[in-house]
Amino acid sequence: MALAKCIFCGKEQEDFRGTYLFKNDGSTNYYCSSKCHKSHLKLHRDKKRVAWTEAYKNVHKKALAKK
Ligand SMILES: [Zn+2]
Repeated sequence: MALAKCIFCGKEQEDFRGTYLFKNDGSTNYYCSSKCHKSHLKLHRDKKRVAWTEAYKNVHKKALAKK
């Protein structure tokens, strides 16, 4: 079973559970859930500022390590 990586939160899961967005330029965006889909497209959230994304954890890893 293929794993797809969510472009918003970075989570990997079976691709049938999420949503594919086919863009005009031929690329494909995969979202693991409607939560990621909405956050990215409708709410225009910066994934580095959303607590449940991989990008956020990467940015804040150093800060957490200091504690
Ligand atoms: Zn996601």
